[in-house]
Amino acid sequence: MGHNVLQLTKELIAIPSVSHWSNAAVSNFIEDRLKRAGFEVERLEYTYKNDEVKVNLVAKKGTGTGGLAFLCHSDTVSGMEEEWEPFQPVVKDGRLYGRGSCDMKGPLAAVLAAVADVETAHLEKPLYVVVTADEEIGLFGARHVVRHSKVMQESRPTHGIVTEPTRLIPVYGHKGYWFIKVTAHGKAAHTSSGEGQSASFRLAPFLAEMAALSEQFQRDPSYMNDEFDPPTNGFNMVFADDGQPNMTSATASCSISLRTMPNARCQEIMDLITTKAEAYGFEVKAGLSPAVYTPTDSPLVQAACHATGNFQPETVAFGTEGFHYQKLMELVVLGPGDIAVAHTVGEYVPVAELEAAVDMYKRMIATICGPARD
Ligand SMILES: [Zn+2]
Repeated sequence: MGHNVLQLTKELIAIPSVSHWSNAAVSNFIEDRLKRAGFEVERLEYTYKNDEVKVNLVAKKGTGTGGLAFLCHSDTVSGMEEEWEPFQPVVKDGRLYGRGSCDMKGPLAAVLAAVADVETAHLEKPLYVVVTADEEIGLFGARHVVRHSKVMQESRPTHGIVTEPTRLIPVYGHKGYWFIKVTAHGKAAHTSSGEGQSASFRLAPFLAEMAALSEQFQRDPSYMNDEFDPPTNGFNMVFADDGQPNMTSATASCSISLRTMPNARCQEIMDLITTKAEAYGFEVKAGLSPAVYTPTDSPLVQAACHATGNFQPETVAFGTEGFHYQKLMELVVLGPGDIAVAHTVGEYVPVAELEAAVDMYKRMIATICGPARD
């Protein structure tokens, strides 16, 4: 042992790493820890819009391919300094308070403490720690890792733990998010001229079709999945146009969004809406962050159940950067702390959960990376 996870979390909190700015300082600290724990560290840098240098770390211990990756991020949301002292960690009543204590410097510290105790000689499969930038502002770091990390491409870890706070409950899935912006074009003119062509009237029949779909999704269970709370797909539409009562609108658009889930006909819905919009001749722009989903009987989810002693894995309502990794590996989300206090003034992690996480992560390493036991 000798790795005090509480102390380590405090040190991480005390190095501010709000997403908007560079995370180089906290990354240097983490890289040093990983190297001292026997990891080879691949450091990937890129520059964000405001010329801030962003750092991703991909660390590997042990040889060969496959194995278990801890998927973490080092950035945090804004400190909101006017309301508390976010970068001066404080322990009170068994809770550690500070920005990132639960999302996710606490979980990251638990990972660093767990992996430091693993002897390379005991690893039949390699172990990885991935620490990204920009998770809180678009998941750019994880995307960069998947595209550019040689270690990930060559070593291909088969199992990943996304260490977001789940109160140490194994989480096997979360919904994804799809949006589509549909724009109709018309011609702006004063209504007295008779020259206008209203983009809003062009869009209206499409909007009516979307309203009908919305009712259907609320009613028909084949568009739902009871594994999620709520089981419905959160279908939503907002509308904007640039006209006025006495001016026809030149453009009218609607943004439609959907919380995607497996086994709820989501691909069918996305295809249907896109096809309809295109058939009207509208301009269409869409984007998808897929759902994360691992069958509950998979070895990884089972290993998480055994490691935590909790045999009722759950789904969660929040998204993670896991979807960037899930083409490469099977995933489970598991970490100390409660997402409900993440991003708040007064964010905290229970110290007992932090300490328990270290042992749980160690048990998962032993199960996935060996050595084989008889
Ligand atoms: Zn997070």
